[in-house]
Amino acid sequence: MAKRVSIMDSHGVNKKPSPSRVRVAVRLRPYMEKGEDKVCVRGLDSQSLEIVNWRNQLETMQYQFDAFYGDKATQREIYTGSVYPILPHLLVGQNASVFAYGPTGAGKTHTMLGNPNQPGVIPRAVRDLLQMTRTNDNPDEEQWSYSITMSYVEIYQEKVMDLLEPKNKDLPIREDKDHNILISGVTQKTITTFSDFDEHFIPASQNRTVACTKLNDRSSRSHAVLLIKVQKNQQVPPFRQLTGKLYLIDLAGSEDNRRTGNQGIRLKESGAINSSLFTLSKVVDALNQGLPRIPYRDSKLTRLLQDSLGGSAHSVMITNIAPEQKYYFDTLTALNFAAKSKQIINKPFSQETTQAPAVQPTMKRPRDDLENSAPS
Ligand code: ADP
Ligand code: MG
Repeated sequence: MAKRVSIMDSHGVNKKPSPSRVRVAVRLRPYMEKGEDKVCVRGLDSQSLEIVNWRNQLETMQYQFDAFYGDKATQREIYTGSVYPILPHLLVGQNASVFAYGPTGAGKTHTMLGNPNQPGVIPRAVRDLLQMTRTNDNPDEEQWSYSITMSYVEIYQEKVMDLLEPKNKDLPIREDKDHNILISGVTQKTITTFSDFDEHFIPASQNRTVACTKLNDRSSRSHAVLLIKVQKNQQVPPFRQLTGKLYLIDLAGSEDNRRTGNQGIRLKESGAINSSLFTLSKVVDALNQGLPRIPYRDSKLTRLLQDSLGGSAHSVMITNIAPEQKYYFDTLTALNFAAKSKQIINKPFSQETTQAPAVQPTMKRPRDDLENSAPS
């Protein structure tokens, strides 16, 4: 009988391990504002940053994360430091999820998708998974064969829409007897090469309809969810089957839509977005605090992620932030969601060093030893 290892791990009788933490990385995008706008946030070291305290300009707030990537960080550094290390778990039937969180314009799509010259997390992870399942260096692996499939959906106004088959507009999320979460009726395409992936992914991305509002289009108001499933089949008895799922998610903008002039239908959308992002923040908080009840069922997004966020799953949230003053309050909200710790320091924020290396010589460097160390 096919038995999934991850089920044993996360639902073992009376031996349930505590759910794994969600690792949090923050990425600061480069300054891009054409007009004059002050910079209000800058990096300190590989785990922390500082931001102006709006209540008191003589103070700086310092935040700490599992990893901090400054405005010079490359796509490769983010991928290598925060995403690549979780891929091997998929090959042993465990699940994983990677989210890009943050306000519109802060770099979520750049981080996840990137462009042909600077490919982001999605193309890199797909390429590496295809590679990892192709090479059979380990003799123990000879009795296994792999297959990879992809699905791509959008969660918009609490509805799951199939981007590979746009007529599927409101797909139900179900749970099977082994507690695997699945999207009933969703299209799954087998991919064996990277061009297979592109062939399905590129037109599907265009299925994300665009309707402009003052600040953001629909792609900013829906969650784009790419699912890569790695299935491992044993070729000899007992013919075990392991499935590892990787969710790669470009979340809706975390900005407060009440400030963007949205009204009517847009306002209703904002409510739905904010409630599912709000639920996500409660889930991440509950997991990271080790609370007994995780409110997965309170939104479509978290319900879908129930078997791939917490439990035996490996999750990383990449919080994207922008340095300009006009993003200040959205940045603060995102940081407060993401932070492991926060400290108010009695020292004014210094503007002049934003282009220079991250650390001021006069400042104490509490985590100097961790500088440049790759997060795992
Ligand atoms: P979001 O998806 O969060 O709305 P985008 O990824 O579209 O934000 O980024 C907004 C703009 O900033 C885009 O033009 C993008 O190319 C650019 N950008 C974002 N992050 C970076 C970065 N790290 N380096 C260079 N350009 C970036
Ligand atoms: Mg985007």
